[in-house]
Amino acid sequence: MACIDGFDPSYLEAASAKGRCPFLDRSTARYGLRTAASAMPSFTNPNNVSLITGVPPSRHGVAGNYALDTESGMPVMMNTPELLRAGTILAAAHDAGSTVVAVTAKDKLRCLLGTSLPDGDDRAATLSIEALGNGQQEMTPAIRTAIGTPPPGIYSAEISLTVLRVGLALLEATTPMLVYLSTTDYMQHRYAPNAEESLDFIAALDRLLADIDRAGAVLVVTADHGMNAKTTSTGEPNVAYLQDVLETAMPGTGIQTILPITDPYVVHHGALGACAMVYCNAGVSDHAVAVLEALPQVEQVLEREKAAEELEIPPDRIGDLVVLATADGVLGSSRAAHDLSALAGPLRSHGGRHEQAVPFIVNRPLRDSDLPTQLRNYDAFHVALNLLESEADHA
Ligand SMILES: [Zn+2]
Repeated sequence: MACIDGFDPSYLEAASAKGRCPFLDRSTARYGLRTAASAMPSFTNPNNVSLITGVPPSRHGVAGNYALDTESGMPVMMNTPELLRAGTILAAAHDAGSTVVAVTAKDKLRCLLGTSLPDGDDRAATLSIEALGNGQQEMTPAIRTAIGTPPPGIYSAEISLTVLRVGLALLEATTPMLVYLSTTDYMQHRYAPNAEESLDFIAALDRLLADIDRAGAVLVVTADHGMNAKTTSTGEPNVAYLQDVLETAMPGTGIQTILPITDPYVVHHGALGACAMVYCNAGVSDHAVAVLEALPQVEQVLEREKAAEELEIPPDRIGDLVVLATADGVLGSSRAAHDLSALAGPLRSHGGRHEQAVPFIVNRPLRDSDLPTQLRNYDAFHVALNLLESEADHA
């Protein structure tokens, strides 16, 4: 399975219109182009964990890249296996005797993907191009060739392409196996779908996906989330700084804004995304809701229980209020906390409902009548393993 990070349907449309993705075009012409909804919030960690567990964040427990630890009152990265409340499909397949490989671009995901997989086992490997490239992980000669010298930088198209190259090298070396490939969305944060850089990137992805198809793999191509331009008419980030707004409107109430998009790779988005968590005490939450709802970048404010139910997220790991942005808006904490000088271009980001739609492409015919009515990106392993049309279906 290939999770193309930030692969909004608009990138596929743009590349397809220019004839830049013949393999994906051929697959969708033959077997259908489906659109799936990502898990909410539409961020990388919650969705990668949903993809490998097959369940929404309400069941697996990871509702952001970053969350407030309510015991210590401190924000923490949500990237360690102890946080998972559900078993992974990768670990289950390994326990059942399969060889299992997960390859990711950024090292931040490697630990989560490797949850419950044993170290030093011939039938299990969890690799990140970042760790292989900087010598933290050892590599075989085949992987070394796939990675190349020097290894690709974290802010490059090449690191995502290398994820697919390594996956292909492993597929060619060992079968049968379950392979999970997860790229990074640097390119989609940086370039709009019609930019030449995006078209070249999708074309290169398409060639590698075609190679994986030729190697005989059943292949599902989907994404963790989409991507939207988040700028004003003058090209500035269209951002509401929630912490500043709330402290001004309600001084001394101890309100805390946590941004679940936060991660160490700030060049992508400056920690500005389309979902924010607000922690406040019950006595002031009505006032806070009214203040937030008046902001043009805010589409919806949900109280904890309602948010947990509607968005399928774990109530104990979200804010008292969950704030969702408009299609062209993003949410920040305080202006001073965001270093936008590192931003590489006009802001493009994700995290809300408007970035939930992702392509869902399979290189085999499916038993469509058995597909879930509301297809989710995290149905990918279920579809690949259980819903392929078999010869018997034609008998
Ligand atoms: Zn992502």
